Amino acid sequence: MTRFAQQPAEILARLEQLRAADAPTHGGHVLSYVYDSGLAEIDELAAAAMRLVQPVNGLDPTTFTSVAIMEGEVVAFARSLLGGDSDVVGSVTTGGTESCLLAVKTARDNWTGEGVPRLLAPVTVHAAFHKAAHYFGLELDLVPVLPSGVVSADALIERMGPDVALVVVSAPSYPHAALDPIVEVAAAALAQGIDCHVDACIGGWVLPFWSDLPDWDLRVPGVTSLSADLHKFGYAPKGASVLLQRSRDRQRSQYFATTRWPGYPVVNSTMLGSKSAAPLAAAWAIVQALGVDGFAALGASCERSTRALEAVIAGIDGLRVVGHPVGPLLAVATDESVPAERRVDPHHWADQVRSHGWLLQLQPGLEQSDGTVLPPTTHLTITPVTEGVLDDLSAALRIAADEVRGMSAVSPADVLPAEMLGGIGELDSESAWGVLQGIGLAGDGPGLPDRMAPFLALIAALPAPLTERLLTELLARTVEPRG
Ligand SMILES: *Cc1c(COP(=O)(O)O)cnc(C)c1O
Repeated sequence: MTRFAQQPAEILARLEQLRAADAPTHGGHVLSYVYDSGLAEIDELAAAAMRLVQPVNGLDPTTFTSVAIMEGEVVAFARSLLGGDSDVVGSVTTGGTESCLLAVKTARDNWTGEGVPRLLAPVTVHAAFHKAAHYFGLELDLVPVLPSGVVSADALIERMGPDVALVVVSAPSYPHAALDPIVEVAAAALAQGIDCHVDACIGGWVLPFWSDLPDWDLRVPGVTSLSADLHKFGYAPKGASVLLQRSRDRQRSQYFATTRWPGYPVVNSTMLGSKSAAPLAAAWAIVQALGVDGFAALGASCERSTRALEAVIAGIDGLRVVGHPVGPLLAVATDESVPAERRVDPHHWADQVRSHGWLLQLQPGLEQSDGTVLPPTTHLTITPVTEGVLDDLSAALRIAADEVRGMSAVSPADVLPAEMLGGIGELDSESAWGVLQGIGLAGDGPGLPDRMAPFLALIAALPAPLTERLLTELLARTVEPRG
């Protein structure tokens, strides 16, 4: 009998204790990060599937053939749902970011232009594309959007040229749930021989069941790739997304292969080497269990709840929903059309909603390259489980607004001494930590402070490289060696 340093039961008891401090993953109180189908059997099925493949290495689907079969079946399901013909192939990746990274890498390696390739997208494109441009050496060209969060097709098309390796449009965008003008942009891209990616990471498994949409998926001529996250509205545990690519020849640039070392021949379809097959197995099992009808029913629930919450927010004096959300997410901003004493700051509102037990996501405002300003907003992602808590959630949204109505937005000067606002230079790890302590963000544990509005005010006020450095310090400090 193995002698353990600690008994398994004690170890698991401690983990349960740690998990109890997490934000709740079920029940609909967290309106981002988690995508709860509300179906306990689906979670159980996923857990059982993960356990069956626990020791498998997804690195090699010729050795672990279950991986090849499951991946092929998930890709076939996604292709059929997302309008792909027999020319469309795909991969299961570890998440939206990896799907986006690989879409960019594929386009970059297929691009035949000279100099530095350009990645063209609306400013609302997911940050994963900033990361991709950074990792893979593309110049990021971000086009301003209209106040509704939608980009004008002409504004994007105007900036197309031979140095553009990829144009990205979203279905819908994460910050504002805007459906980009995919048909127009993809047609122009096709005419100029430019690759066009549809980022349907959040919409991919729910928009197929949304009412009254123009074509937005692989049915659209000129769309060369599309990402759709299984771990969002595919209701799978984290670690699963699908990347579909038009044409086998194009898609082969996604791969990395080398025989130029003395070890085993390497062929990787995705970024990782050895990888878990567990999220794939879970997603595969869920897709089989739900089928198209199951996804349709869950999508319909999301649409009903989204419409209901839109109406609730429209009825709250001082707040407004940004644009015309397409898909189960909303961005909420201050309604500037009412007098100041009736306005509701979206970040004070989010903090107040949190004090009533619901976690919304604060999004900073942004000055675009043309000088126009996208206002600060608060984000809600609606999932099937939302429908069962609609009344309680709506009440909390209304009460919280009443409690903070008329409060002006946090001013950066309230958070940071004036001399610091202009005068922080290069920071090493100790001085960055000192700044965070000085503004009360360096807590004892890894959790966030109760009030996030001051923090968001700082993000808006300080130069981006500085906040990025401070955030890096904050996150790195949460995993300092401990214990
Ligand atoms: C979530 C998301 C991503 C990135 O996905 P991760 O799974 O968080 O890596 C990319 N694009 C959009 C539109 C998203 O919503």
